[in-house]
This record gives sequence, structure tokens and C-alpha cells, in this order.
Amino acid sequence: MTGAAVSWTSKLGSMSATLTKIPILDTRPETESIWPELMNAVEDVFKTGQFIMGPNVTSFEQEVASYLGVKHAVGVNSGTDALILGVYALGLKPGDEVITTPFTFFATSECVSHFHATPVFVDIDPDTFNFRIEDIEAAITPKTKGIIPVHLFGQPVDMDPLMELAQRRGLWVLEDVAQAFGSDYKGKKAGAIGHAGAFSFFPTKNLGAFGDGGLFVTDDDAAADIVRVLRVHGARKKYNNEMVGVNSRLDALQAAILRCKLPHIDSWNEGRRTAGRRYTQALQGIEGLVTPSEVPYGTHVYHQYTVRITNGRRDGVQRKLDEQGIGTMVYYEKPLHKLPVYKDMVVSMPVSEQVASEVLSLPIWPKIDWGTQERVVEALKAAL
Ligand SMILES: *Cc1c(COP(=O)(O)O)cnc(C)c1O
Repeated sequence: MTGAAVSWTSKLGSMSATLTKIPILDTRPETESIWPELMNAVEDVFKTGQFIMGPNVTSFEQEVASYLGVKHAVGVNSGTDALILGVYALGLKPGDEVITTPFTFFATSECVSHFHATPVFVDIDPDTFNFRIEDIEAAITPKTKGIIPVHLFGQPVDMDPLMELAQRRGLWVLEDVAQAFGSDYKGKKAGAIGHAGAFSFFPTKNLGAFGDGGLFVTDDDAAADIVRVLRVHGARKKYNNEMVGVNSRLDALQAAILRCKLPHIDSWNEGRRTAGRRYTQALQGIEGLVTPSEVPYGTHVYHQYTVRITNGRRDGVQRKLDEQGIGTMVYYEKPLHKLPVYKDMVVSMPVSEQVASEVLSLPIWPKIDWGTQERVVEALKAAL
């Protein structure tokens, strides 16, 4: 047992107690800090009985559009649906190609494959975990229609050179902002820079609902209109279906909850940034461990704090931390081109494959205290 862990238990005055587990994410402090507002909002939804669409959804859409600096925000049922409806609204057709990163959650490319179009992967930079913009041009073919950058773990992609390239080659850009709500890129919000953005409010995301939720944002009137109509079975007016759509609305209850959380997101992101910097400082100069980089052009909101364990001992380290009651996760153990669903795809993405074998995400949340982080740091050092 490490010294830090001992002092941590003694602070609680429980000499014989077993160490409390440290989860990878604890949303309770955040929830408790706005408990009265949340209860009022939930009670209000119950009392009015307005569960589907209605004033909470409309107001959330207006408030979040204004926060992000976009013309349109359309609430949908999940981040995945925001991507699926988004690529459709941007005009994706069977046979088209879309360039994206192989180092992300499956939904990023699933939305493309869903329409029998082809995701084309471009390998990543091992320091930012985001795809290499300088490699995109070589991946463009006559079939390429768009690019989906992912602001992975909360750190923005370098959007200026990406948008310059997309404009020059006539491609649309749909930002996957599922992990980067509120992240800033040169004075703009991530998600407000491309032609459109797709957010997720899955409970573990840095702006999380109490169930599924998602958001499509854009300045493009036509694309916003298509997503708005698609989410309600392609009907602008009831029983007047114009398109084949889906049922993908943002729940009024989730919208009410998100309205309570939105005013706090900047301070919560700031809390994550503080925690991220504390880890980075404490984990400098350790053999076999690489801390995440912070790019100069944007703010990393540390949806995940992800280190690389470069000596082939990642799985062993994770096991040892687990034995100490410390929750960690491997995002992502397989790059997308290695998934069974893409077994016919013969490509090699050496950096993504290497990084997938090295990454380990550590406990982080806005109100994590230094004592908890210190215990993680000490256990990690001991496990290496
Ligand atoms: C979570 C996530 C999604 C999907 O969001 P859901 O709300 O779970 O459907 C898409 N892309 C990325 C990068 C994600 O992390």
C-alpha cells in the first residue's frame, strides 16, 4: 500500500476500513450541486405532463444554440441519431465515401455504413489521438463527399486547416462532438465550425443527461429542416408525412435536466481541466508512461484523461489498479478497421493499432479532489 493511500484513509479516520473504490467517473457531486433545480425541473415536467417535445425541448434548443453560437440546434434521441440523421441531411448516398478517424467509438463510422456508404480511415497522431489532417488529401477520391472529425477525449481537432481543405475540395464536414461539449477552438465552440455538429448527452459524456439524448447543430437552414422533419417520421404536419423518417426526439425530461446543467458546463469543464493538469504535472518523467498533450489551438475539456503505457504492460497495469479499487477504461481497444463488421476492409493503421494497445483512461470528473487523484497517481506509479 502506498503512503498516499494510507494518509487518505486516515483522513477519514477509518484505520481498519478497506479503501473506498475510485470509479472512473462519479457524476454524483455534479448532480448534488444542482439537486434543487433538478428536482423542480423534473417535478414541473411530471406536473405539466408534457413528456414529448414542448417548451423544455424548444427552450433547450434555443439556449444551447446560443451557447454554442449556431443558428440551429435540433434535439434528437442520441448522439448516434444526430450522426445518422446528420449525414443524411448533408446528402450522403449509397456508394459515397466519408473520411474519418479509426480511433473513436463505432457510431462515428456506423452512421456512414448505415447508408451503404464507405468510411475511409486516416491514421492518427499519437499525441493528440486525433486524425492527421496532413494525410487526408491523399485519401480523397472522386467518391469522397465529406469528412467527420472527432474531437476525441475532449480535445479539438485543428479545424482551420481541415475547413480550408474541405472547402477547396468541395466536401462537407460533420463534427463528432460527443466528447467535447463546450471545448473552445480559437474563440469558437467545437461543433460550430464545420457544416454541422453532432453531440451526445449519454450520461457519461461531459454534458450528460439522465438517459439517452443527442443534438444536431448547423447554420445551414436546409440541413436543420431535414433533421427536424426526420426526427418525427418525416412529417412537418401531423399525418402529412413527406419523407421516410424515424422516431428520434429528445425527451422533454432530458431537455429539462440539460437546461439545469447547461449554465454550469463551463465551470465543470474548468474543473476537468484543473484535474487534467494536476495529473499531467504529477505524472511527468515516468519511464514507460506518456501523458496527454494539450494543443495550443484549443481547450481540452478532458472528457477522458488518457495516458499511454508504452512498455507493453498496459493490461497488467490496469489489472493492478483494479485490484487497488481504481476504475480505469481502455478507450478504444480496437481501432474501427479491426472490428468484425469491417472484416472485408484491408487497411493498416499502424499508429492507431499501436495506440489502442497502450491507452488507459484514468478517473476524472469535474469535482474530483486532489487526494483521490494522488491515490490514482501513486497506485499507477507502483503498478508500472
Ligand atoms: C458516445 C459517442 C457517440 C454516440 O453517442 P450516443 O449518444 O451514445 O449515441 C458518438 N461518437 C462518439 C465519439 C462518442 O463518444
